[in-house]
Amino acid sequence: MPANILIVEDEESILELIAINLKQSGFNPMRAINAEFAEKIVGEAIPDLIVLDWMLPGMDGIEFAKRLKMNSSTKKIPIIMLTAKSEEDNKLQGLNVGADDYMTKPFSPKELIARIKAVLRRKAPEQVKEPIMHKNLFLDPNKLILKSHEKKINIGPTEFKLLYFFMRNPDIIFSRNQILDKVWGNQSVIDDRTVDVHIKRLRDCLKNSGDDQKIQTVRGLGYRFNED
Ligand code: CA
Repeated sequence: MPANILIVEDEESILELIAINLKQSGFNPMRAINAEFAEKIVGEAIPDLIVLDWMLPGMDGIEFAKRLKMNSSTKKIPIIMLTAKSEEDNKLQGLNVGADDYMTKPFSPKELIARIKAVLRRKAPEQVKEPIMHKNLFLDPNKLILKSHEKKINIGPTEFKLLYFFMRNPDIIFSRNQILDKVWGNQSVIDDRTVDVHIKRLRDCLKNSGDDQKIQTVRGLGYRFNED
């Protein structure tokens, strides 16, 4: 599931520019042209992050940020403030109401995306989907591509998620329960034998390229992705 990023911006050209760049980076953009509408969206589904313009008609960005921070169900949503103002005291005011980062217009969309990723990495690391490489293994979670030595490997969706999880956490031993929790999610009712089944399938996928050796069984403890 791509991360939902709510953009609150009254200038539609900027709103679209941000939305397009978010989409290209594998995020799901949601749009609001004022804070009142944004509040409605947040009331229905909590976004993973909000890009919030300061100067808005009606309720301004600072006021909206304050309201979000006062509500227990919304106070943890990371916020990146946007503004045309560049004075230091405005920056401080933005950070005082609980914004996680701050960008002054005009800004490069590339830099905004980099900052969004940085904030998510800090606050919700599982939401950042970036291609990852370990020696000969290359995995792109946005395009669902796995390659070893430049050659594409066919892999099922669950094995893909499993390998992605391992590659992001190399050399750490995970118990079956931890793997279930991280890869399948809390709501899963499947038993931990399921992990063994998918580990076997994952090794089968990686056998031809010799990468199956990287998935190690640690007796009595669980599994680990071996980096060397
Ligand atoms: Ca504005």
